[in-house]
Amino acid sequence: MKYKHLNVRPKALEALKHYNLPKGPLGFGKYSTPIMIVCDYADGKWGELKLAPFAFLNLLPTAKVFHYAQEVFEGMKAYMVDGKGPYLFRPDKNFERFNLSCKRMAIPEIPREYFMEAIQAITAYSAEFIPQNTGESLYLRPFTIATEESLGIRPSEKYKFVVVACPSDAYFTKGTVPVMIERQAARAGMGGTGNAKTGGNYAASLISAIEAKERGYLMTLWLDSLEKRYVEELSGMNFFCIINGELWTPALTETILVGITRDSIIHLAKDMGLKVHEERIDITELITSIKNNECTEAFACGTAAIISPIECLGENHGTRYTFRDQGGNISLKLRQRLLDIQEGRYQAPEGWLVKVDLPQI
Ligand SMILES: *Cc1c(COP(=O)(O)O)cnc(C)c1O
Repeated sequence: MKYKHLNVRPKALEALKHYNLPKGPLGFGKYSTPIMIVCDYADGKWGELKLAPFAFLNLLPTAKVFHYAQEVFEGMKAYMVDGKGPYLFRPDKNFERFNLSCKRMAIPEIPREYFMEAIQAITAYSAEFIPQNTGESLYLRPFTIATEESLGIRPSEKYKFVVVACPSDAYFTKGTVPVMIERQAARAGMGGTGNAKTGGNYAASLISAIEAKERGYLMTLWLDSLEKRYVEELSGMNFFCIINGELWTPALTETILVGITRDSIIHLAKDMGLKVHEERIDITELITSIKNNECTEAFACGTAAIISPIECLGENHGTRYTFRDQGGNISLKLRQRLLDIQEGRYQAPEGWLVKVDLPQI
């Protein structure tokens, strides 16, 4: 692509020349390529898009983001398996969701061209550091933070849009994941920010993550805040289960994050001939159907892990309801199909894979 707004700083090219990936496991989101995209908003408009060396952000302690959490982010991946690509997976969806989150958090939207150029450029300039084994990828993290230096409680008049890129291993949870049903706390309420991708939702979920860990679980399953009756999602992933061979996931509400993996799985499942239900799922009925062996498997899904099969749902006092099918039969079939599409081995639906052109450095 021709970059219209990008200003490539010579120091960024210099940093790229001298960079080597660390030896040993990359982990997930642990290391960044030596560059980042930065764009400042002031006086009612976005400035130029800079490709700069990866470095500290220069913020005063009074920057609003530190006090009032006015921020949004996205998570997406670029794939370059066996030298094919790099490909971005459904970046339009991330762009749309980014601006929906911005709207909710009173942050100025970023123009489409800026967002697309930013993610394309950081991917293109990071290309030689994209790991190439199946499951590995370059994890992209675009975010916007409120930077105005003032403690007054009102929307900031200054912002920073930043994108960093993290070469990452396959994020594959070993085996299946035990999940704790959260009966007390809530992640999101009606009219709140549950369907915006904003840090505060995660902050609010961490206390439950601690309890889950203490009780021997790895993730939290959130219920609706009003009746504590209907399944919503996990802290950073959407929820699916298989009942009588059919795929079920909670219908979207304003307290559930609109997952792009969720949407893709629904599409692929229908393609593979599975019947899909997007409906309310009552936790008591779900537990009964696990006990009856009608609900045989469940999984969590999101960009990072794609699909993590769930071992059991359980109460914090200890009772566990274990899924019969621990092989994650259908879960793993869906995971493989999605990965085959993302890595360019299986024909992607129209518009799902976007090729990134490499820069002439
Ligand atoms: C990001 C996120 C997801 C998953 O969305 P994907 O687009 O599939 O990565 C699910 N739930 C929450 C709360 C999230 O923040």
